[in-house]
Amino acid sequence: MEEKNRIPYKIYLEENEMPKAWYNLRADMKEKPAPLLNPATGKPMTAEELSVVFCDELIKQELDNDTRYYEIPQEIRDFYKMYRPSPLVRAYCLEEKLQTPAKIYYKFEGNNTSGSHKLNSAIAQAYYAKKQGLKGVTTETGAGQWGTALSMACAYFGLECKVFMVKISYEQKPFRREVMRTYGADVTPSPSMETNVGRKILAEHPGTTGSLGCAISEAVEVAVSSEGYRYVLGSVLNQVLLHQSVIGLETKAALDKYGIHPDIIIGCAGGGSNLGGLIAPFMGEKLRGEADYRIIAVEPASCPSFTRGTFAYDFCDTGMICPLAKMYTLGSGFIPSPNHAGGLRFHGMSSTLSQLYHDGYMEATSVEQTSVFDAAEFFARTEGILPAPESAHAIRVALDEALKCKETGEEKTIVFGLTGTGYFDLKAYEAYNDGRMVDYIPTDEEIAASVAKLPKVE
Ligand SMILES: *Cc1c(COP(=O)(O)O)cnc(C)c1O
Repeated sequence: MEEKNRIPYKIYLEENEMPKAWYNLRADMKEKPAPLLNPATGKPMTAEELSVVFCDELIKQELDNDTRYYEIPQEIRDFYKMYRPSPLVRAYCLEEKLQTPAKIYYKFEGNNTSGSHKLNSAIAQAYYAKKQGLKGVTTETGAGQWGTALSMACAYFGLECKVFMVKISYEQKPFRREVMRTYGADVTPSPSMETNVGRKILAEHPGTTGSLGCAISEAVEVAVSSEGYRYVLGSVLNQVLLHQSVIGLETKAALDKYGIHPDIIIGCAGGGSNLGGLIAPFMGEKLRGEADYRIIAVEPASCPSFTRGTFAYDFCDTGMICPLAKMYTLGSGFIPSPNHAGGLRFHGMSSTLSQLYHDGYMEATSVEQTSVFDAAEFFARTEGILPAPESAHAIRVALDEALKCKETGEEKTIVFGLTGTGYFDLKAYEAYNDGRMVDYIPTDEEIAASVAKLPKVE
């Protein structure tokens, strides 16, 4: 009870306590993430080569491994004010229900209309595109959160927005599509007949349900061939992790305000942006030798890039037109089973996080989707929030760690990222509630066959 009086259920920051700069984790890494390579030459991509695809200021951020802080432009801070700070919640109800001595906190990023953390980077990317005088941007979206976030950001700055949406999501999540259209975006199911790469993929795999890698190829093709357009990406890239550092900076400021030191920090990992953002300032301290934390990435057993992938250069897209990134990957042709409902379907992982994982600064674990939804249901009934399936991967492992504390009697402090809400994922919840949800784990042979097709790089 004493603790309850001391630490509020929700910790908010005052306006003057909000981060004024993003933190670039790479500045503190001794082993920098490997550079993007031009697939044609095998040499690092130059800013000039990238400028065909990406906005200039974002390229600068992408390639900058040295500048520690980037001031957040006032226009972006003004937009952040509409939905930030996000609350850091002390999960008292969860602790009580679990009867654990662990102290559990979660940073909730679902309090905006797009429903996830993706808006933090979408608004930054739209801002720089507008500042460059562009007409519009193209992108892909898988589950739909990124497309929704980008639509909102583009509407705010008056930019056109063309979204290629993975076909299975387009069909399963018609409501997400309508949110995007309400914000003015043009939404096309991918693969489509609108692009060369889409037509090629459809000819080779008729009836395919699509993949993120394939949608990326289509979005890039349209950006490169349309006047006044560039392509933007909602995860994986260094620039996205930079923008998402706002999550970790707020979390750290809120914890510091009450003198709380976390022992374990947990986040789900698709392309790595929320996790990279959440852990940024903590990992910075770890890299500088100022503090230590256990950091755990959680991924789906059906798309296990960290835990079963290979650390190598690979394409970020199925069409093999994007630069090569060095990352933990299952191969750019890897398409997770259509039975997989829980998001986090990207075949690769942020090069920054891949390097940190490779160097032993963080752990990774994979979980099966039925146990993820068990955790989601338990969390919804206990803490009240209906979590996104992606977020529930982190919940699963947070619950497991809290239960371990119950066994050992250790009073560990656990912080996890609750990245979004599950309102648009009710098809997945329906499958779970009907008992139709199955677990799917790719075989070693399937992964080996996909990884065998990795590009050869010196
Ligand atoms: C996109 C998304 C993720 C995964 O993406 P990362 O780049 O790995 O953070 C996780 N949770 C939610 C709610 C998402 O929308």
